[in-house]
Order: sequence, then structure tokens, then C-alpha cells
Amino acid sequence: MKTCQEIVSLVTTESPTGETMWTRVSIGLHLRLCTHCSRLVRQLKQIARISRATREEPSPDLEERILYRLLKKDRLE
Ligand SMILES: [Zn+2]
Repeated sequence: MKTCQEIVSLVTTESPTGETMWTRVSIGLHLRLCTHCSRLVRQLKQIARISRATREEPSPDLEERILYRLLKKDRLE
């Protein structure tokens, strides 16, 4: 079983050779069991979708602003 830290570094690092099938399986398994990591991955995917949609280089603080909004949205508006 991988630790949360290992999972986060695996999903945030794009390996040029790609992961092995076992690595993918263990990531998928961890995400099913760990709400912390599954939420994090969902947020990272949203960020990736937004930066693709704008077709711009993400600004250095884009991720921080989006995470802030995701975390604070209950209290805003
Ligand atoms: Zn985890």
C-alpha cells in the first residue's frame, strides 16, 4: 500500500515513460480508499481542465487561486 505522499507525487509528476500497470492499479486502489487523495486528484483535474479551456499558460498563482476558491466557496457569496 502506497502512502498519500507517494500517491500525490505519482499523480502530479508526469513520467515520460509512463507508469507500470501495477502503479496505475495501486493508485486507483488508493484513490478508492482515501478521500483525501481522491479529492486532491479531482481538484487537479479541474485545474487541468480550466487551463486547457483557457488555452493559456497557467499563471503561477492559478492553482493557488482555484484551490482557495474550492476551499472557501462554502463561505463566499
Ligand atoms: Zn491518500
